[in-house]
Amino acid sequence: MGFPRFKSKKCYPQTYTTYNINNSIRIDHQRRKIRIPKVGWVNYRDNRMISNPIKHITIGKTATHKYFVSVKVVCDVEIPPKKAVLNSEDIAGFDMSTTHFLIDEHTQYENPRFYREEEKRLKKHHRELSRKKERSKNRKKARLKLAGVYEKINNRKHDWLHKITHDLSERHDAVILEDLNIKGMQQFNSGLSKSITLDFSWYQFRVYLYYKMYWKGKHFVLIDRFSPSSKLCSICGQINNDLKLNDRVWTCKHCGTTHHRDINAVDNITGEGIRILQEEIGIMVIATTDDHDTSTVGTTGSHASEEDVRPSTNTRQSSLKEESTSL
Ligand SMILES: [Zn+2]
Repeated sequence: MGFPRFKSKKCYPQTYTTYNINNSIRIDHQRRKIRIPKVGWVNYRDNRMISNPIKHITIGKTATHKYFVSVKVVCDVEIPPKKAVLNSEDIAGFDMSTTHFLIDEHTQYENPRFYREEEKRLKKHHRELSRKKERSKNRKKARLKLAGVYEKINNRKHDWLHKITHDLSERHDAVILEDLNIKGMQQFNSGLSKSITLDFSWYQFRVYLYYKMYWKGKHFVLIDRFSPSSKLCSICGQINNDLKLNDRVWTCKHCGTTHHRDINAVDNITGEGIRILQEEIGIMVIATTDDHDTSTVGTTGSHASEEDVRPSTNTRQSSLKEESTSL
């Protein structure tokens, strides 16, 4: 089939975009075909019915010679206004680490191991490819095999990212994430394990979560990584400078609370996120406790008074603020 030429031969997926001028792009759902300008009718497989006007399509070809088309349509999406009042139990803060990320003592998400699972196979294919003679047919075949493994890993990764960010955006009204600082990035990108970096793409995770929360009128807060998050007592605010890296459990000398290291960090992240929601974005946060106490909370100990709370009046401003901090 005489497809128009792609821009680059080396970089996959190769893509080109073509605009819908004078209805030149059409989809025939019954015959399962799409009409592409200069190409004609092409078989097409997808179960979604597209009835909105098509703006343009982008055709992509993967390294394993699969063709994809992404169709951009014009449609009205109703984005609900951001919630101005939140229950504290619907707010979740995260502590990210290379092996897992954690919300509280009950919820912990393991980072995927797709790449690590395939590492052996990848090595084998890489080795085979390097043995083949340059420009030979066998080299081509070997390259295709290797690309197939990478493609599969990538598909699984994105599938997982979509599922987990969907899940989080369904469960919580506000999600608070610690922005990874240079140190955190190094942890992810260190020579320690390249495969961890390839398995978890922090940036993709953030982007997917952000837009999924946004579409549901929910909040996504990215906080600066404040260095003592694990050293800070989430109950009294005292900083424990004696805390060592391998101390999993510690007791605050000031208030006597015994902390699990990671849980305490999560509590601090959540506390800071709630502070931003209340003070900077103007959200009212209602405490949901067992004794039906419905006062506003400030998890770090300082109770916010009614005057501090400015619900809904500046939602526009606040959403802008949130966007600027998140992306
Ligand atoms: Zn304390």
